[in-house]
Amino acid sequence: MKAMVVTEFRTQPELTEVPTPEPQADEVLVRIQAAGVCHTDMKIRDGLVPDVPLPLVLGHEIAGVVEAVGSDVSRVRVGDRGVPYGYVTCGRCRFCIDGRTSLCSQVRLRYGFGQVGGYSQFLTVPEQFFMPVGASTPADKAAVASCSVVTSYRALVKRAKVRQGEVVVVVGAGGGVGLQAVQIAAHAGARVIAVDTDKRRFPLATEQGAHETVLSSEDGFAEGVLDLTQGQGAAVVVDLVATASTMAASLAALESGGRLVLVGYRPDVPFTAVVPDVVFREIEVYGSHWASLTDMREVLAMIDEGLLNPLVMRSYPLEEAARALEELATGEAMGRTVLTP
Ligand SMILES: [Zn+2]
Ligand SMILES: [Zn+2]
Repeated sequence: MKAMVVTEFRTQPELTEVPTPEPQADEVLVRIQAAGVCHTDMKIRDGLVPDVPLPLVLGHEIAGVVEAVGSDVSRVRVGDRGVPYGYVTCGRCRFCIDGRTSLCSQVRLRYGFGQVGGYSQFLTVPEQFFMPVGASTPADKAAVASCSVVTSYRALVKRAKVRQGEVVVVVGAGGGVGLQAVQIAAHAGARVIAVDTDKRRFPLATEQGAHETVLSSEDGFAEGVLDLTQGQGAAVVVDLVATASTMAASLAALESGGRLVLVGYRPDVPFTAVVPDVVFREIEVYGSHWASLTDMREVLAMIDEGLLNPLVMRSYPLEEAARALEELATGEAMGRTVLTP
């Protein structure tokens, strides 16, 4: 099969012929129909994500159709459409048992993080990690649902537990995850303030449901949020960027009792806060890491019911993976791009 292979960190993937995987007894063989291009892919390509061996095939936002099934597979059939959950988890650790599968302490493999990912034509997936999607959900939307949409959903709905009428600030609202976060917060009934450093992204954020926008400058964005809320601040800030300056501004933009959710991450960036600012205002700080199997099932059902509509802006053939990554690196890509084999 064709795959886009990275043989050295900080170099672009190249079209390579690699063996087509064969399904084990409990696995299904998936013919990939679409693979999302994510900021994490750039981090992996550049060697910034630990424990990822070379050579590697990127891509953890994958949708496809079942081409063959192993002898023990009973639920999934040839021709079924769906997305692999991005991890094959142990199923036995306390996090798996508690349903917090993105925290599994003994993950067996992660697609696109060493294990061959979506920048290819086929994958094998254990049956229980293949999540069916409804007939009305196109492959490109299903693919991006499995990372950018579920990540936003977990951060806003499961971690921050956003309630109707609350002011929610999305930092990095114009990015691939940000636009989905705006849509989910608006769907939850929040008053959504979109923050970004690039005002060209605001029309898209508004289209996704943002009620107001704040341009982040060198001075941050807290003042803009306070101005829009009569000095009160936001109930929830979701920081998808998480640099030292955005995290400081995020804290300053919160009302007393507010919740900060950190989703973005950069290696070696510490999270610092002036302790009395957190203590006397009873600020709650959450980390939110991708999503559980349950989150994924809920999001796929919402998309199928038409309650969420993942935004896919561009589609390129698999061979143009380098171009898609480059457009993401330069900020030219707005919203998500998918690759199609
Ligand atoms: Zn991703
Ligand atoms: Zn586990």
